[in-house]
Amino acid sequence: MTTWLDVPADHPFGIHNLPYGIFSTEGTAPRVGVRIGDWVLDAGACAERAGMESGEVWLTPSLNSFLAQGREAWAAGRAFLHEQLTDDCHRDSVEPYLLPVADVTMHLPIEVADYVDFYASEHHATNVGRIFRPDSAPLTPNWKHLPIGYHGRAGTVVVSGTDVVRPTGQRKAPSDAEPTFGPSIRLDIEAELGFVVGDATQVGDRVGIDDAEDHLFGVVLLNDWSARDIQAWEYVPLGPFLGKSFATSISPWVVPLEALAAARVPLPGQDPEPLEYLRGERPAAGLDVHYEVELNGTVVARPEYRDLYWSPAQMLAHLTVNGASLRNGDLFGSGTISGAAKDTRGSLLELSWNGAEPIALDDGTTRTFLADGDTVTLRAWAPGPDGAPVGLGEVTGTIQPAR
Ligand code: CA
Repeated sequence: MTTWLDVPADHPFGIHNLPYGIFSTEGTAPRVGVRIGDWVLDAGACAERAGMESGEVWLTPSLNSFLAQGREAWAAGRAFLHEQLTDDCHRDSVEPYLLPVADVTMHLPIEVADYVDFYASEHHATNVGRIFRPDSAPLTPNWKHLPIGYHGRAGTVVVSGTDVVRPTGQRKAPSDAEPTFGPSIRLDIEAELGFVVGDATQVGDRVGIDDAEDHLFGVVLLNDWSARDIQAWEYVPLGPFLGKSFATSISPWVVPLEALAAARVPLPGQDPEPLEYLRGERPAAGLDVHYEVELNGTVVARPEYRDLYWSPAQMLAHLTVNGASLRNGDLFGSGTISGAAKDTRGSLLELSWNGAEPIALDDGTTRTFLADGDTVTLRAWAPGPDGAPVGLGEVTGTIQPAR
């Protein structure tokens, strides 16, 4: 498949990708855009001109209405875009709706309904267990039986480029007699993949594992900013709370799962075999997504998503097995992506081993946790058809001092 646009075959936003986002230009309202090369297609205006009625949802300021239409509409929308951008006969009518990406402002792509964060990397969970609970088994007894997760704060999910204010809260190290209060001194990142969910369900219904992909629209890069000192003191016995809820950053472009068909890979292997509701007719598949974690211009880690233990379909099936409904615009994170090798760890907690092994940056400084003014950028790409990359773009954020 080739486009009539001048886009190199190895461009991360080539014709095989076509991610959706919400953009605006000066003086115009935010609406759905589709990235192709270094342009953004004004999708709703293009669809309106072509007489595609179902494309009206692309004139709205979030992807939620499009997500509500379900998988058949998602496929039809993608087919429409492919046709418009590959058949030369559409060139003259489509070209006016292409805007240079440098001229647009990107917004949060979804109105986040519910936000859940999982913990699907065995290496990450093992590392955290060793650091936080050195006298116990690193993995809790439930870990290989269910994808562990918690409900996060949907209202503080922000788009890439949004500054992150250092959170303030309580902490108490084991050696301290009493808790103290102040700005976090162990501010961290978590490199994750976020899954954008559509085709809402009713309370009481559950999404079976073989139907999970009907609700998995696409993926974003996700940075789950984490205040380790606040987290360590508050998380027993109910899990993460204020150490996480101050901000979660996502990338502006939602890459459809359809664009990642060539990136499906087998999971590393599950032992023991999970319960039946987590076993599908087809073997559970992961995704081959390659990450870069950059801190102030230095790449400090290269996590590999294929290392994750639980599949996205298993996470979604588990999320709804109790009858909890899905809403359009739900978002769930994979959990920190860490592998066996040190340079594939997706958090500073693991890279610096809780501060014991400072990380050297190219500017000559070192870090254990984040300093005010630090900028963290996650980038990722996956293999597409014919060896072409499918880019997920980037998610970036800069730490501002506590208020
Ligand atoms: Ca997380």
